[in-house]
Amino acid sequence: MKNYLTASISESAVRHNMAQLRRLIGPGVKLCPVVKDDCFGHGMDVLYPVLAELTDGFAVAAPLEALALRGKGYHGFILCFLSAYFDDFKIQDELVWQEITQTVMSTSALESIQAAARRVGKTARVHLKVDTGMGRLGVPARQAVALIEQINAADEVELTGIYTHFATADEAERSATFRQLELFRSIVAVAGGITRHAANSAATLDLPETHFDMVRPGIAVYGCHPSDHLTSTVELRPCMSVKAKLIAVKRIPAGGYSGYGLTHRYDRDSRVGVVPIGYGDGYFRNLSNKAVVRINGMDAPVRGRVSMDQMTVDVTDIPDVKVGDDVEVISSDPTAPNCVENLARLAGTIPYEITCHLGHNMRHELVD
Ligand SMILES: *Cc1c(COP(=O)(O)O)cnc(C)c1O
Repeated sequence: MKNYLTASISESAVRHNMAQLRRLIGPGVKLCPVVKDDCFGHGMDVLYPVLAELTDGFAVAAPLEALALRGKGYHGFILCFLSAYFDDFKIQDELVWQEITQTVMSTSALESIQAAARRVGKTARVHLKVDTGMGRLGVPARQAVALIEQINAADEVELTGIYTHFATADEAERSATFRQLELFRSIVAVAGGITRHAANSAATLDLPETHFDMVRPGIAVYGCHPSDHLTSTVELRPCMSVKAKLIAVKRIPAGGYSGYGLTHRYDRDSRVGVVPIGYGDGYFRNLSNKAVVRINGMDAPVRGRVSMDQMTVDVTDIPDVKVGDDVEVISSDPTAPNCVENLARLAGTIPYEITCHLGHNMRHELVD
């Protein structure tokens, strides 16, 4: 962890986003934010107290993420998307003991959860995941009813929910999503009285007919739009800004270069600042010669290749730049050129990947 890099997470922005999502889903639907991968890189340690107060539950990917939430003292509903597979009995038992709701998507997953429940002497609660077209995790739709019957027949296991996941909810073309939705509807029709859920951020924002009993937004909680194609007019506030400090400022004469590969040639006498962040910290190397950072409120273009732990920026047009000045690597202002969504566009990826990568190597602090 690098003490000189800071991700500042805005409490008021997260509260705002959660309130917007609540307003959208109305009072009858539960709000279960997805906090996998350390809250998409935003930092569980800082966000937990804020979210715990506003949420109806948490969804995580990995078993250890679920157990870590219990370790923080959370007693409510926790859904784990992935099970503790294979022969890790210790974690399988702990999940049952700590009352984590696990996902069942196959007979073998059911059997290992049932075995854990027997060892622990406690009923395991599970949600069934149905693959309605995404082609990833989940029981194939045509086998779902049979698996529901198997779960209902399994003594130590209680089916409390059923869900699916959309492959294209963030795209303008809706037909695949509607096909998935219809298939899901036909299956939940035979599974009464349990929590039905399907919506990720895109579906929560844009498709009220997918809300059912609970929604599972991830990226929207942190204030980014899942894609540019949504019609939703809900205003989200990005909650993360990332800061570093300039560690060197140097003159490079016209005709000089900076960085590996000498990919940028300065065509005038220039001043170049060195920022101690690089691809090892999650700042994508393919932002080289494309992105900007901001110093004293002005844009400083990233020049030359981004290295593992440093990069160089052109500060020639910024007056009075000196070592120690704050460098805003990511802005929480969604209109800034260095906002997460714009960096994702420049890097040819999605906002999720930007925040996940940037989270791991730096201090996180909660602000306002
Ligand atoms: C990651 C994930 C989500 C959240 O997706 P967003 O697009 O971030 O809202 C919801 N459901 C499942 C099963 C996921 O894996």
